Amino acid sequence: MRKHFFRAFIADPVCASSGPGHHVDIGRYFMAVVKSSVPIPVTAVVRDDGVVRLDWGSQTAELWNHRPDDVDVALRGTNGVAEWAPEWQVLLVPGASLADERTVFTLAYPDECTECTTDSALLHRVVSGVVDVR
Ligand SMILES: [Zn+2]
Repeated sequence: MRKHFFRAFIADPVCASSGPGHHVDIGRYFMAVVKSSVPIPVTAVVRDDGVVRLDWGSQTAELWNHRPDDVDVALRGTNGVAEWAPEWQVLLVPGASLADERTVFTLAYPDECTECTTDSALLHRVVSGVVDVR
């Protein structure tokens, strides 16, 4: 199960970045799900300009993901119901039995946006991480 989870997270020829707003790496996912004391229930929506907007209580946040369409698809399945782990900047869209990049996203604050990268050193690091957990 864990192996499958890992594979789903690295099978991307276009972007190998695990920075905020890109792919969720296993460490970030684990910290968000297991260690985060209180994920905040939020209403999330992807605006027409691709910005992910979160609303909870009287607060809002506007964040960025490298694939807003994927976030949009996930949120449509729950009418925008999601959980936000601000410490780890992970958005969890509930309802899936197996967490992967269809339901778990990392979001970046606007000043953290970085370009997608397929940097080979980074790819090597990610692939090595997969080997290590087997
Ligand atoms: Zn990316």
